[in-house]
Amino acid sequence: MGKLIIDYEKCKGCSMCVVACPKKILEIDKKTLNLKGYNPVEIIDREACISCAMCATMCPDSVITIDKD
Ligand code: SF4
Ligand code: SF4
Repeated sequence: MGKLIIDYEKCKGCSMCVVACPKKILEIDKKTLNLKGYNPVEIIDREACISCAMCATMCPDSVITIDKD
């Protein structure tokens, strides 16, 4: 199973990955602001991730990568 890597500082909180995730384990973190002033996405259940890469595919800013080691 690949590891999900989120480049929080590049995220603009658009929620496209949140909508795309079939496991519904991505959320916008309303309590955090990144350096750009956006609430970044966070993964709420890493164990449930199936590494489908739907989130990475949907993200317009290449914030998410899957490390398939
Ligand atoms: S890789 Fe798939 S299951 Fe994992 S967070 Fe992204 S969309 Fe969701
Ligand atoms: S699609 Fe990309 S920019 Fe939009 S919330 Fe998800 S990670 Fe952030």
